[in-house]
Amino acid sequence: MRGDSVGKPRIPQAKETLLRANPHVEVVALGEDANEENAEEWVKGVDIVLDCPPTFEERYALNRACVKLRKPMVEAAMYSMEGTLTTIIPGETPCLACITPEAPKWWKPLGFPVLGAVSAALGCFAAIEAVKVLTGFGEPLKGKLLTYDSTNMEFVKFNVRRRADCAVCGGI
Ligand SMILES: [Zn+2]
Repeated sequence: MRGDSVGKPRIPQAKETLLRANPHVEVVALGEDANEENAEEWVKGVDIVLDCPPTFEERYALNRACVKLRKPMVEAAMYSMEGTLTTIIPGETPCLACITPEAPKWWKPLGFPVLGAVSAALGCFAAIEAVKVLTGFGEPLKGKLLTYDSTNMEFVKFNVRRRADCAVCGGI
């Protein structure tokens, strides 16, 4: 985004920016939120999903669709100066609902501060995860949750496990 884009829809700007970076790719920009009705259709046509919308409803809808269709999903979230990142491989790693079965009570949409550079860094990390999954290069964060706090630049990796009783991936 640029200064002259403030107040304008982000989707056309994102498409223009991507095409400026690489005019040889096809960009299909969908200007609507993911939900239980459209997520499966969207996920059906892709090789990987990068999950980074601002609401838990959208995240859970994409998680359910990825688990059902066995598509990998990079899960990236931020709050203020902090970021979290993991890579979900349905049937192999915990899904989003294993890690966060329900939205935290304190959470409200867009009700937190965002430093653009923190989300930009997280976006780059998520892109690296996607490249690793798609190419087979390196070690994606499978079963690992990376958290970082930009306040003191502390990076920590936790092991995360599947829940046998997970409502989304428990049966696969
Ligand atoms: Zn699960």
